[in-house]
Amino acid sequence: MVLHDPSRRLLLGAAMVAMVALLGPLPLVAAEPAPRPPPVIDLHVDLSYQVNFRGRSLADGTGQMPARELLPGGVAGVVLPLYVPRWASELGPREQDWTRSRQRLLELLPSTPPYALPGCAVAEGKVRTWFALEGAGPLAAAPERVGHWVQQGVRLFGLVHTWHNELATSSGAPNPSGRGLTERGREVVARVHAAGASVDVSHASDAATEELIALARRDGRPLVATHSNARRLAPHPRNLSDGQLRGIASTGGVVGVNFHSSFLVRGRRAKLADVVRHVQHLVQIMGVEHVALGSDYEGDIRPAVGLESARQLPRLAAALRAKGMSEGDVEKVFARNALRVLCPSE
Ligand SMILES: [Zn+2]
Repeated sequence: MVLHDPSRRLLLGAAMVAMVALLGPLPLVAAEPAPRPPPVIDLHVDLSYQVNFRGRSLADGTGQMPARELLPGGVAGVVLPLYVPRWASELGPREQDWTRSRQRLLELLPSTPPYALPGCAVAEGKVRTWFALEGAGPLAAAPERVGHWVQQGVRLFGLVHTWHNELATSSGAPNPSGRGLTERGREVVARVHAAGASVDVSHASDAATEELIALARRDGRPLVATHSNARRLAPHPRNLSDGQLRGIASTGGVVGVNFHSSFLVRGRRAKLADVVRHVQHLVQIMGVEHVALGSDYEGDIRPAVGLESARQLPRLAAALRAKGMSEGDVEKVFARNALRVLCPSE
């Protein structure tokens, strides 16, 4: 538009002066782009359960970790436990259920971007995956099968879920005997360690946890709690005492902070700030090298308000920075500590 009326030109000039006064001096360089979300390696995402036993799609799940939110949330890798619910058969979980679940995921992962097939290989724009077992009871009948499952991409072996089995006692059931591992449980642990994998202590009873710390130290293998919090802040049997946290740190292992409200606080819905408190407590007790994230997304959890889905993960990074955590330490908690266990040669 060309202006012929000098009075209008004057008016426009005055308006521009007012605007500059309002906005302040114009920047000499373009505004900095929004910081990239820090990469996240999530140690526990229950999509296999949703896909194989709840009829949900890998792309959408229940909406807590949909594929479309992975890259916006900074997600760079997820551990997918081949969790089999107790009702999968009359005899409970069986090895064939893991085989079927794994096969289904291997079919779906390539056609569900941005997921990559399991393993440590990195590809631009792809989200890495690893398998885990949560409730490894079927191995009691065949401990020698541990090597097979490591070859199938399983990096973390959780011996129990919410009930005792032939390997160990669970935090989810009364344990008046105070027993930890069975003989078969000890054999499975020795084989997991010999194969270069790690045991996942989440869901194990206190007695089993103590034994697992001792066995990990004996074998020089990192012990992992993929999705557990600090019992000091939230007194729940699923959470870990300060002594257990120190024990896990002493093996070189990590604890993944869980976003489920009941494991974060008592008597109310947890908020993002409560997740921050657990991260801070774990860092204080264990050291920043031993703290990671294990959201438990898609595991029928009630997530902390403000962390309802993967897209919101960068908010957690911002909240930790606001509490004074350095960028390097945020990166350790978000990804590097977990990768040390999952891909030790990196
Ligand atoms: Zn679990």
